[in-house]
Amino acid sequence: MAVQQGSFEDCCLSESHNKRLKTLLDSIHIEADRFLGYPVSQQFDYSCLFPFLTYPMNNVGDPYTQSNYHLNSHSFEREVLAFFSKLLNAPDDGVWGYVTNGGTEGNMYGIYLGREIFPNGMVYYSEDTHYSVPKILRILSARNIMIKSQPNGEMDYQDFAETISIFRDVPAIIFANIGTTMTGAMDNLTKIKEILKQRAITNYYIHADAALAGMILPFVDHPQPFDFSSGIDSISISGHKMIGSPIPCGVALARKNHVARIARAVEYVGTLDTTISGSRNAISPLFLWYAIHQKGKLGFRSMIQNCISVANYTVDRLNQVGIKAWRHKNSVTVIFPKMSEKVLKKWQIAVHRDIAHIITMPNTSKTQINAFIDDLIQGIEENDDVTGKQYV
Ligand SMILES: *Cc1c(COP(=O)(O)O)cnc(C)c1O
Repeated sequence: MAVQQGSFEDCCLSESHNKRLKTLLDSIHIEADRFLGYPVSQQFDYSCLFPFLTYPMNNVGDPYTQSNYHLNSHSFEREVLAFFSKLLNAPDDGVWGYVTNGGTEGNMYGIYLGREIFPNGMVYYSEDTHYSVPKILRILSARNIMIKSQPNGEMDYQDFAETISIFRDVPAIIFANIGTTMTGAMDNLTKIKEILKQRAITNYYIHADAALAGMILPFVDHPQPFDFSSGIDSISISGHKMIGSPIPCGVALARKNHVARIARAVEYVGTLDTTISGSRNAISPLFLWYAIHQKGKLGFRSMIQNCISVANYTVDRLNQVGIKAWRHKNSVTVIFPKMSEKVLKKWQIAVHRDIAHIITMPNTSKTQINAFIDDLIQGIEENDDVTGKQYV
C-alpha cells in the first residue's frame, strides 16, 4: 500500500512528469476496484522481490542448460516448472518447459512443436478459440481448419468428426480449449480421442490451451480431462491470470521427446535455443516461485474453492433479479446476456456477440458483485434498456 500511495516526488524528473505518473497511478487505483470482466488476479504482493529489479537479469535460452549469462533465475524457473509438471501429471522427468510471456506464447509454442512433428499436419480449432490463434497459424503458415462451436462454447464434435473424416490421410494437430475466453467451455478430450480412434487416425498431436483453467482444474474434486494423464502433448497456462503477476507471464510444458526436434545449440549465448523469445525476463519466474511457496497446493485449493463459491453467488444473485446467468462446471466465468452497456463499461466487462461475462478471481468480492448488480438494475430501469428487457 505504501508503494501504491507513492507521490513520485523523489523521481528524477520534472515536476510535471512526476505528476503524470501520480495521475496514472491514481486512475489505475480507482479502475482496479471496478474490474470484473477480465481473468486476472489482483491478490498478490511481490514487493519483497523489488531488489531484483535493480539488475539486468535475463533468463535467455533454455532454463535447463547452463548459460554464459549468469544474471538469471533459471534454478527458480526450473522449480516452477517442476511444480506445474507434477500438478499436470506429467510423466516423471518426461516434460520440458519454460516460463513464457503469457498464454499466447505457450500456445504458439505448442502449435510450433505440433507443426515441426507433422509439417503437413492440419490444425483443428473451434470457433470459440482465443483470438490470437488464427494469428499464430498465419505466422507459422500452418494448415488449419476452424471447427464449429456449440452454443455453449464447446467444440461441435459432429462437425469435427465430419471434417476430420475428409482429411484422414493428414496428421491431426488438435488445439483444444480447456476453458474458452468467453464462456469457459472445455473441449472434451475423451470425445476428441474417440473420434480420432474411430477414424483410425494415429498420427495426432494435442495441445491444451488452459490459460485460466489450468490453475483451476488441478484443485477441484472432479476435473474434466485436461492434463498429461489425458494424453495431451503440450499445454499453455497463463501466470498472470489465476496466480497473479504485475508482469504478464505463463508456463508452457511439452513432452520432452517432441522438444528434442527443435533444440538447436547457439554458441553466442552458450545455451540451447529451445524457447520462442530469446531474452526472457527473469523476474516473473520469481513471482510464480514466490506465489507457489507462499500459498502452496492447499492455499491454491482454498483460493480456487473461494472463486467458485463467489461465481455461484454471482449466478444466484443475477438469477434472483431475473437475469439468466449460468456457468460451466468448474468454471469461474459467469455468463449472462449483454445489457446496459454503460454499466458493463464501468465494470470493464468484455462482451461478445450477445453475451457478457464476469470472471470471479481471488480478489473478486461479494460486495463488488452486489454493487455491480445494483448498477445493472438501475441501468436497466433508467435506460429502459431494450437489450436488457428481453431477458428480464
Ligand atoms: C487469456 C487467454 C489466452 C491468452 O493468454 P495471454 O496470457 O493473454 O497471452 C489464450 N487462451 C485463452 C483461452 C485465454 O483465456
